[in-house]
Amino acid sequence: MKAILLYEHGGPEVLTYGDFETPEPGYGEVQVQIKAAAMNRLDIWVRNGWPGLKLEYPHILGADGAGIVSATGGGVTQVTVGDRVVINGTLSCGRCEDCLAGRDNLCRRGGILGEDRRGTYAEYVVVPERNVLTLPEHISFEEAAAASLVFMTAWHSLITRGNLKPGESVLIVGAGGGVNTASIQIARLAGATVYVVGSTDEKLTKAQELGADFVINRSTEDWGKAIYRMTDKRGVDVVVDNVGKATWPTSLRALARGGRLLTVGGTSGYDAQVGVNYVFGKHLSIIGSTMAPHADFRTVMNLIFEGKLRAVIDRVMPMEEIAAACELLESGAVFGKLVLTP
Ligand code: ZN
Repeated sequence: MKAILLYEHGGPEVLTYGDFETPEPGYGEVQVQIKAAAMNRLDIWVRNGWPGLKLEYPHILGADGAGIVSATGGGVTQVTVGDRVVINGTLSCGRCEDCLAGRDNLCRRGGILGEDRRGTYAEYVVVPERNVLTLPEHISFEEAAAASLVFMTAWHSLITRGNLKPGESVLIVGAGGGVNTASIQIARLAGATVYVVGSTDEKLTKAQELGADFVINRSTEDWGKAIYRMTDKRGVDVVVDNVGKATWPTSLRALARGGRLLTVGGTSGYDAQVGVNYVFGKHLSIIGSTMAPHADFRTVMNLIFEGKLRAVIDRVMPMEEIAAACELLESGAVFGKLVLTP
């Protein structure tokens, strides 16, 4: 099969589109012929590498994908060859106490597709049967691949962990990233008032189309002061901040008493300064999460299937153009998801 292969860590130049043996499904696994794979920030982190990350080379990136079941291993009962499916990139053992309690994203033997095993940047991928969900005919492979990781991550953070309620106010720091475009829609669907901070008027206009009630352009305005003014000095109930070091101090100040800061990542750096006085003095909660349990994946994908939430695709590119796609993603000049096709 053709695949985007990684033989060493580094920039976009270390990725090559070449030939690799097609993976065969083992017991309880399915082989999926990939029709669309979506890119995530995670892929860039894995490509760059970090101390302690051990990959089996050549490695294949990619947590998100959708396609057609092309082979099944023994014991597979829920899907058959020819089924259209979307992949859930959350890997878990299915047997430990966390998995059995429905917290499979906390599975200690688990991981993420494209990080802990070869992923979706290929013509074929093999995953456990429980990691695929059948797609209705009206949902394209591109939409499904683009939705999977970011929507389950945003849903788990905002709804399950963040306990977002109708009537609350949410500030989303960043307009264009995949998780942010999902968070805007989920917050709106939950009945919250949505504020979005973004870097350009163009991105903020798109954020409004997704459901943002109020937008702040951080290039022309001090967004911390703006949110203070816009909420009549009260602050917001929830801040979604996956930027980290560069924005956490302002995000913590932007919270109302009893507020929650939700995070699923830190694109600007991890060692953010936290004013402990803000945390106790204002009764704040800092709530982290990563990926989502299977139940949340199914819930949010069904909302996609029903048209209540929609995948936001910046553009679709062939896998041969992976270097250009990486540069585009890292430049930040993307609104929503980049989707790759074999
Ligand atoms: Zn487990």
